[in-house]
Amino acid sequence: MGSLKLPDEFTLVEVGEGIHAWLAPNGSWGMSNAGLIFDGKESMIVDTMFDLPLTRSMLDSMATVVPEIRSNVDILLNTHANGDHCHGNELVPTNRIIASAETAAEMGELPPSALYAMVESFRGDVSALGRYIQYAFGSFDFSNITMRMPTETFTKEMSVAVGDLDIKLFQVGPAHTKGDVIAYVPAHGVVFTGDILFFQETPIMWAGPVDNWIAACDLIESFNAVTVPGHGPITDNSGVRDMRNYWIMLRDQAKERFESGMSILEAANDIDLGPYINWGGPERVFLNVNSLYKEFGSNQIAGDVMSLFMEMGAIWDSRCEEKDLPVS
Ligand SMILES: [Zn+2]
Repeated sequence: MGSLKLPDEFTLVEVGEGIHAWLAPNGSWGMSNAGLIFDGKESMIVDTMFDLPLTRSMLDSMATVVPEIRSNVDILLNTHANGDHCHGNELVPTNRIIASAETAAEMGELPPSALYAMVESFRGDVSALGRYIQYAFGSFDFSNITMRMPTETFTKEMSVAVGDLDIKLFQVGPAHTKGDVIAYVPAHGVVFTGDILFFQETPIMWAGPVDNWIAACDLIESFNAVTVPGHGPITDNSGVRDMRNYWIMLRDQAKERFESGMSILEAANDIDLGPYINWGGPERVFLNVNSLYKEFGSNQIAGDVMSLFMEMGAIWDSRCEEKDLPVS
């Protein structure tokens, strides 16, 4: 199948027999996809949303095709620790939440209340950073979220049964985050990649190393499956190859500039993104070059998240604002 366009609003799409993808209308900050797998008896949900209202509408929509999930979901999988994939866990009626051990550990690092306080502290702030934070996070409701943690963890690989269906979980991180997992349904040729795949959106490498991410793309490509990315429209191996090629391009261009003595900011501004300049969030190149420079052993890494947002906000302000700003 070819790639599909994103819907105009959050939409549930059937991607295989009994398998649905919950697709966000755009793939930018916090606008994540999720999944529902049902074999006629048992169910599994792959990821929740960034806030409770979005998670409620996801569950309501999923219940129109599988009413059983109103009272019981057999398994909830969190592909990784970013809040846009797990903040809504408390709303899922399940006793079994699975994640990699690294993801479970990372989930406690940034409580939703801290995100809430950060966004509130920038309300009305008209600096580039203030406007960028509002653009990225200002439309979500981070109040009153109680983080519900995984009940069961694994490392490397795990097979789980959803009724008669065999679901293969592969821990492919650290890459995007410390413990990224993908979920593959061999019987129906569908894979949920979490944020190992951003499609037509600039990915974000919080953790690395980049070679893990490239190897994860190779694994996903070997499935030759209908591919549901963490952000962006449904795709197939063409989208998987795009992701791998982005990382090879960025790794090689960043390495040259590191070796020639450029700073991270100079490199981020100098790199020719080629066709990827048209992906959403091109300013994330700064964060990604920062992560690559860390791998290369640079001693000028921006260590804290706020300085990363400050640099991305400055690039966004100078290059991307007109295109990206439709924020109330
Ligand atoms: Zn995400």
